[in-house]
Amino acid sequence: MKPKSENYLVLVDFDGTITQNDVGALLFNSLSGEKSKRVVSQWMKGEISSKECLERECELIEITKKELKNFALSQKIDENFLDFVDLCKRERMDLAILSDGLDYYIKLILKKYHLEDIPFYSNTVRFQGRRLIPQFPYYDKGCGNCGNCKKYHLKNLRGAKQKVVYIGDGLSDKCAVAEADFVFAKNDLKTFCQKEKIDYFEFKDFRDVISVFQSNLLEHLRKSC
Ligand SMILES: [Mg+2]
Ligand SMILES: [Zn+2]
Repeated sequence: MKPKSENYLVLVDFDGTITQNDVGALLFNSLSGEKSKRVVSQWMKGEISSKECLERECELIEITKKELKNFALSQKIDENFLDFVDLCKRERMDLAILSDGLDYYIKLILKKYHLEDIPFYSNTVRFQGRRLIPQFPYYDKGCGNCGNCKKYHLKNLRGAKQKVVYIGDGLSDKCAVAEADFVFAKNDLKTFCQKEKIDYFEFKDFRDVISVFQSNLLEHLRKSC
């Protein structure tokens, strides 16, 4: 019997999930002399939206397009993600990236690893000299607390009978996990899932994700079709 896993949609966070570092956090922390940490902690406490958080972080730093390009290209992904992309292709699972970060570095890092075919949905950025001007093309469609609400994309991308697998590491993923059928979580997202009593598979990197898919998730998904 042929696997029916074309019925599955896999959505993956970018910063700290696909990449080894949280690229956005590293960028803003290192260039703002850690001033961005205060803004981020306000967001984590729910005092400001991630849109406002990103706007304020951008105001704290100066960087040219070329410098940001060099910074982005110095960043590495978890290379097990490449095997995971192959697994998704083999099993004919739809794969997309959802990020509340900025398109400019995401695009460069994906291209560096020849992953530019994977669709991604994020905030965008415009350069004005040494200033970054963030833009939020999906803000109005979301929950109001996210710059780019992942729940909106999950609902928008999901086919009528598709099951959704969500993989992430942080609080920008929390709107999505409540809607997903299967969640992979680490770090702050893991803590959030525990608090909210959302079932999740724990992972450290994509080797763990692949092994859960191979050992039970694919079987489980096939049987449930
Ligand atoms: Mg993340
Ligand atoms: Zn949201």
